[in-house]
Amino acid sequence: MRRLQAFQYELRPNGEQQRKMCRLAGSCRFVFNRALALQKARYEAGEKKLGYAALCRELVGWKTAPETEWLAQSPSQPLQQALKDLERAYRNFFDQRAAFPHFKKKGRHDAFRFPQGMKLDQGNNRLFLPKLVWVRYRNSRKVVGTVKNVTVSASGGKWFISIQTEREVETPRHPASGVVGVDVGVANFATLSTGEIISPVNALAKRQRQLVRAQRAMSRKKKFSRNWIKAKARVQKIHTRIGNTRRDYLHKLTTTLSKNHAAVVIEDLQVRNMARSASGKVERPGRNVRAKAGLNRSILDQGWSEFRRQLEYKQTWRGGIVVAVPPMNTSRTCSACGHVAKENRRSQSRFECVACGHTANADMNAARNILAAGHAVMACGGDVSPCRHRGAGTAAPAKQEPTEATGAGLMPAPAR
Ligand SMILES: [Zn+2]
Repeated sequence: MRRLQAFQYELRPNGEQQRKMCRLAGSCRFVFNRALALQKARYEAGEKKLGYAALCRELVGWKTAPETEWLAQSPSQPLQQALKDLERAYRNFFDQRAAFPHFKKKGRHDAFRFPQGMKLDQGNNRLFLPKLVWVRYRNSRKVVGTVKNVTVSASGGKWFISIQTEREVETPRHPASGVVGVDVGVANFATLSTGEIISPVNALAKRQRQLVRAQRAMSRKKKFSRNWIKAKARVQKIHTRIGNTRRDYLHKLTTTLSKNHAAVVIEDLQVRNMARSASGKVERPGRNVRAKAGLNRSILDQGWSEFRRQLEYKQTWRGGIVVAVPPMNTSRTCSACGHVAKENRRSQSRFECVACGHTANADMNAARNILAAGHAVMACGGDVSPCRHRGAGTAAPAKQEPTEATGAGLMPAPAR
């Protein structure tokens, strides 16, 4: 089995190296934006979209044009990779996987990528970025596999490198055999069909108070003044910390889930639906809608897709599977008799079946339904291979009639 894995390290550049990397990230951003503007203009003029090769020819032209000849000082490959990124952004848009590509802003996801040529000197804790410099890095673990490409990015005032590798590993057999259903919610981060309740990260509430205070302090400063810049850095630092806390929490959770269960059944939620559920929908009205609308929603939102991403690649690496079932009716179906009614759900947390009188915690009831739907998908597909399943079948355990349980064999996104 081919295994793609990324290894991330913090870089320790000196001042000059930082300036060089900033400049290269800026050049890549410029090329991306320029190409996007060109594609938009062509579209408005009724012309065809340029392909990657044609864009590369445009790039050559920009490098010789007097007003943008500074581009020629940057290594070519990262600039071409920026054009590749634009290609991918368009493709994701056409495949309805993402919104229309937007212009990149300075300071947001500053990054550049080298497709080849990186040299690694692990003994001396340094690595060579093609055409640039030897940079020291925090050598926290060994790189395994063949290096495919490297991405350098800035985040929260620090520079990082992500080394993408590929290697052949034996197809693993999952050590555990159990199946578990997971319901992800607003009040509790997750509820398992085994009855275990996973509460949300506690540290976030404290950080959010800090964040609000820092943002208020920033709003009092004169925009673009020295003090404003300092206050802004403080806000960004808290954002980074919140992100790190959440990622760490999710990693621990997904590792435990993946270690103990050969198959994990989750709801096939769309990120868009998830954002809506924070503001409340009929099945699960959100509480404190106004308070939750801003930051909290984005945390939930990102938390969910990141949860799924981590779970999927960890299961693949262990030889287990993740089964995604349609979220329809999971919260209003009785897990005991299969009766579906809106009235079953008495409140946010209480479930009481109007047909058979079965009572349960509402999230647990949903988790059981998810598990049952997962069993239905696996029973009919029978293909317990380490790939992602988009299953059908109804959430009701009583009616197990899945129709199209064939999995789209998507490779999980590699770890970052
Ligand atoms: Zn019932």
